[in-house]
Amino acid sequence: MSGVFGMFADPSVSAAPLGYMALYALQHRGQESAGLVVTEGDVLHAHKGMGLTSEVFDDASLAKLPGSHAIGHVGYSRSGENHVTNAEPLWATSRFGPAAIALDGSLTNRKVLRERLLDTGALLQTTTDSELILQLMVRSRKESPEEAMVDAAKELIGGYAVVAMTPDRLVGMRDPLGIRPLVLGRLEGGHMLASETAAITSIGAEPVREVEPGELVIIDRNGVRSRRLFDRDRRAFCVFEYIYLARQDSEIEGHNVHLIRKEIGRVLARERPLDVDVVIPTPDSSVSSAMGYAEEAGIPYEMGLVKNRYVGRTFIQPTQATRQFGVRLKLHPIRTVVKGKRVVLLDDSIVRGTTTANVIRMLREAGAKEVHMVVASPPFTHPCHYGIDVPTPAELIASRRTIEEVRRHIDADSLHYLSLEGLQKAVEGNGRLCHACFSGDYPTEVPG
Ligand code: SF4
Repeated sequence: MSGVFGMFADPSVSAAPLGYMALYALQHRGQESAGLVVTEGDVLHAHKGMGLTSEVFDDASLAKLPGSHAIGHVGYSRSGENHVTNAEPLWATSRFGPAAIALDGSLTNRKVLRERLLDTGALLQTTTDSELILQLMVRSRKESPEEAMVDAAKELIGGYAVVAMTPDRLVGMRDPLGIRPLVLGRLEGGHMLASETAAITSIGAEPVREVEPGELVIIDRNGVRSRRLFDRDRRAFCVFEYIYLARQDSEIEGHNVHLIRKEIGRVLARERPLDVDVVIPTPDSSVSSAMGYAEEAGIPYEMGLVKNRYVGRTFIQPTQATRQFGVRLKLHPIRTVVKGKRVVLLDDSIVRGTTTANVIRMLREAGAKEVHMVVASPPFTHPCHYGIDVPTPAELIASRRTIEEVRRHIDADSLHYLSLEGLQKAVEGNGRLCHACFSGDYPTEVPG
């Protein structure tokens, strides 16, 4: 899971501070690394490192990034690959001059592409898919970087949103099914690209539109041009963006994420009505769906858990050991809210079950009479091949247990999931969504 950003603006605009703020707004999409590459139209200036945006950058490092064009990345790498060499953006000198690239997503034909590139003499320095795309691009026989990118795109299978930059242009590209998000925005003196509208509005820019599935957007001093790379009507936008990944103030296809999550909660309340005293969310990503559930069911909504905001999201920490440590530090029950109550605990998903079991135990210790677990998504049963680093099927609790077995494992009084039909109805995305992690129905070829 990653967040990408790109900007092409007049020389009067200083891209580095704006890029820094945009990466801050995308921080929820990746907390392991951050990086910016900036140019004033000649050489590329780069700075990246491991950690949060605020840890990687300071005034001194931003001051060394002059220029009005930039790309940036906040990242979360595949397990075991989180080291600075893999931090993005990547950059290199090519026959097109200096070039930089950053990616949100993942290629399902990575292995084949990698072997082919190595067989034909490529030197690969990272294990990222971005490097494969950059290599395909520079090995194309086409004369312009734009045509070379079109050539490279024909080789890619997967879910991806790419931003790439040469000193005189910025390009954005989205996979043919639009699995991963990418939005075009306008700021005074230029244009920008970002994974979410929250990054665009947070720097005072205006979202213009989503980059279409299979579209290549080229931004240079002449403005914005667009090319459609694939002629397909099919879409498969990641439904997990609505449930968990995207920020509540972002908009997807013109719909606010918070309101969509509320609607998911409402549908859930109609599907799974319960006789309880209070609805509490697992903060933060299930706050909206819990509000919707409570409103629809006519049950009081309360803040029964307090989040320590200085601990990162448990879902995107790299090892099991730090994850368990994080859960204990992160959430605490409010005793007077839950004591003696029949509680509905609402969460956006259950992945490994570790967090859920810990939270239910804490609520019981705090005096809750009953804890009913309600989940704003169907059981998470399959791995994601499109850039979300969910665990292996063996670690996914719902892939190897029945719902009753999961209930017993997390020690809930009852356990209820949203149906896939209910989810599709709530996001008005029937037939236009990827829901493979819930259904196993992958919209592209996948390895194995
Ligand atoms: S498999 Fe799940 S997380 Fe991955 S792209 Fe599809 S819906 Fe999103």
